[in-house]
Amino acid sequence: MAKRINFFDTTLRDGEQSPGCSMNIKEKILLAKQLEKLGVDVIEAGFAASSEGDFESVQMIANEVKNSTVAVLARAVKGDIDKAWEAVKGATKPRIHTFIATSDIHMKYKLKMEPEDVIKKAEEMVRYASSLCPEVEFSAEDATRSNPDFLAKIFDKVIEAGAKIINIPDTVGYTTPDEYYNFIMDIRKKSKHLDSVQISVHCHNDLGLAVANTLAAIKAGATQCECTINGIGERAGNAALEELVMIMNVRGDIYGVETGINTKEIMKTSHLLTSITGVSVQPNKAIVGANAFAHEAGIHQHGVLSNRETYEIMTPESVGLTMNKMVLGKHSGRHAFKDKLQSMGYDLAPEELDKAFEEFKKLADVKKQVFDGDIEAILTDREVKAEDKYKLVRFVINSGNTITTTASVVLNKEGQDIEGIAVAGGPVDAAIRAIDKCLDIEVELADYSIQSVTEGTDALGYSIIKIRYKDHNYIGKGMSINIVEASIKAYLNAVNSIYA
Ligand SMILES: [Zn+2]
Repeated sequence: MAKRINFFDTTLRDGEQSPGCSMNIKEKILLAKQLEKLGVDVIEAGFAASSEGDFESVQMIANEVKNSTVAVLARAVKGDIDKAWEAVKGATKPRIHTFIATSDIHMKYKLKMEPEDVIKKAEEMVRYASSLCPEVEFSAEDATRSNPDFLAKIFDKVIEAGAKIINIPDTVGYTTPDEYYNFIMDIRKKSKHLDSVQISVHCHNDLGLAVANTLAAIKAGATQCECTINGIGERAGNAALEELVMIMNVRGDIYGVETGINTKEIMKTSHLLTSITGVSVQPNKAIVGANAFAHEAGIHQHGVLSNRETYEIMTPESVGLTMNKMVLGKHSGRHAFKDKLQSMGYDLAPEELDKAFEEFKKLADVKKQVFDGDIEAILTDREVKAEDKYKLVRFVINSGNTITTTASVVLNKEGQDIEGIAVAGGPVDAAIRAIDKCLDIEVELADYSIQSVTEGTDALGYSIIKIRYKDHNYIGKGMSINIVEASIKAYLNAVNSIYA
């Protein structure tokens, strides 16, 4: 029988820690549900002891997710483990993931502990976590820079104390495939119990080797890989889930493993993450980049037309990529819209469907052809909207190449209309300045972007704005066929999230 590889997705924990990738609770739940649909075995939902917000989101994800295990991270500290268990205990399949650093440099300078005390602490905390939670994973932080004899010793102790999964992470992205393979084989030889539990790996991409290292570890006996969607994560990120899965699928002849991943959900998951965080992947990114399935050169196009396999090692359909075909227009009815949603894998409750249909109608009025990408954008936009303190009533922009741009924006703040007027060099800047005049607080614009959802000059503009207020970042998104309106909506969305 083929070896089963378990996918442990840490997009919501390690991924969320990466700059610009923070998400609110609603967004995390949305993503968790999509990860479940994708078929990941474990969802690492957060680090419960790190903040009240993290605790709450772990708790809500634990209650929502039914098919995947929900893991929660905790330092090998009693207080952390208590919080972790409190947050995750409602899950159908809960897991506490506890860790302690094992490299000399970390033990000496970070923990300021003697190696023998680190072993004692790990053993004691794994035993405690196991008394609460049926499944405990132990990680040796900075394992690849740790002494293999020491690792074998600490692993045996924590396995005796109840750990069911042992993670050997390349925390700093330092190892290479051959070295990692030999390292894991060596620890397996030195340890008495390691072969009786699941070996997990967690690789960082500082040298661009996260995926290659993960594959080497699988060859060395690991059966759980920790990874993230689009490879997001600390610094250069983690191993990308979509790359690992497709390598195992396309090169089944080499790896011969089984996974529980439904590859047709890959694109949707990647797009959802991008639309939530506003951090897009580079166009040439493997599997999920915009150009990953584009054949540009004439000779390639000709080849693919006569037989796809001439230049295609996997089909776009296998990762759930639907080309932007025209799907619906202004005459499409509710029924056709519902059918389309179902074919795209969305099953909405009646009132959600009503709202989405209303948005679709508005869009179809101004845009002749509505593509799959537009529909995905409508759904994502609708699902992350928070209760708004400031609402847009109307705006007027006067702009041209021979006049100064002026903007007048009217907002409704808790039932009362307020108007702001501003002049600036361009329409977006003028609109944002006009809004600033209506706000009670002063926020700082940290990042602004706008991109089109599909092709054509009538495409939906999708704007992402990051603002700073009292040392916190807030992200807002807005969508409209009018790019100034998209920007205004994004800015208000960010401001409103301060109050949400
Ligand atoms: Zn990590």
